[in-house]
Amino acid sequence: MYKSRAEHIVEVVGDIPRFRFDQIHKALFDVSLNSWNQVSTLPLNMRESLEQEVPWMSVVLVQMFESAQKDTYKAVLKTLDGKNFESVLMANRRGQWTICVSSQIGCAMKCTFCATGTLGLKRSMHSDEISDQYRFWNTFLKSKPELPQRISNVVFMGMGEPLANYENVKKAIHTWLKYTDLGPTKIMVSTVGILSQMQKLLSDPDWPPVRIAISLHSANQKKREEIVPTTVPDFLKRLAVWSHDYQSTLGNRTHHLTFEYTLISHVNDTPELARELASYIIKTAVSKVNVIPYNPVHGKDFTRAERSRIDTFKEILCTYGVNVTERKTMGDDIDAACGQLALSSS
Ligand code: SF4
Repeated sequence: MYKSRAEHIVEVVGDIPRFRFDQIHKALFDVSLNSWNQVSTLPLNMRESLEQEVPWMSVVLVQMFESAQKDTYKAVLKTLDGKNFESVLMANRRGQWTICVSSQIGCAMKCTFCATGTLGLKRSMHSDEISDQYRFWNTFLKSKPELPQRISNVVFMGMGEPLANYENVKKAIHTWLKYTDLGPTKIMVSTVGILSQMQKLLSDPDWPPVRIAISLHSANQKKREEIVPTTVPDFLKRLAVWSHDYQSTLGNRTHHLTFEYTLISHVNDTPELARELASYIIKTAVSKVNVIPYNPVHGKDFTRAERSRIDTFKEILCTYGVNVTERKTMGDDIDAACGQLALSSS
């Protein structure tokens, strides 16, 4: 049974008032500090006890990979109970960094193109392990003063399905919102589309106003079931209804919805499927499609859609008035790109 940092602290120093936890969190997210001994806001005896008993970080580095372009870093991290997972740091267009965090060790969703899906689910991650990925990368950047220092965005696109670990993901997001300079529109939760959890967030007053990306991969129910085997019957119809409920319940600029569409050669990149996607979008409250050229995964037969097929697919969407963007592929030389995280190199 995982012991959270807060539980561990109480076990070591006994019950402490709320303001002490606030001081502790501020210290944990202060990149100039790297041990309990340095937290001068805490009494000396408390610092000494924590230093002896409670790890400063809930994740430790096993191995670091750097892309040839030096614009992507992939860390293999280990949890305190010895489970490895991966977390990625990517340069973004603003000359700052986006971190791609994991929310589970492995994943139960089994999307056919994804390396993580082949691992199966080992366990969900605790909120400390999720939020500490930000701390880990912040400390890493501090050790590299030649690099830009600011993490401006977080995306839940690493290992795992975040909505299958709803409470821990929510808690980690609230921690970042309170103790870092990240605003809610700088955080994106990417889901394969677990409708029960998506329904839950509509009536959850504590759900933070972050962006949501839905990994669609096809607007054809049968094709979607092939690519995402966990697709439920009538998924597309129910998703369209949900998107309108979302807009009417939470809708404003800060609750922007996006569809993610991984383009796999001769699987879901045909002109017919592009037209089907364009017709589907009109039925939803989603205004934007982000196409992602497929990143090859060892042991999978799928290949990336050719440039001409990607361009044709995008042109068809544009013709129908769909706002379409294409994600730049980064870190594929270190297996850090979307869908490639599988601990193969650890
Ligand atoms: S694409 Fe996402 S949801 Fe699907 S198996 Fe991979 S990690 Fe899980």
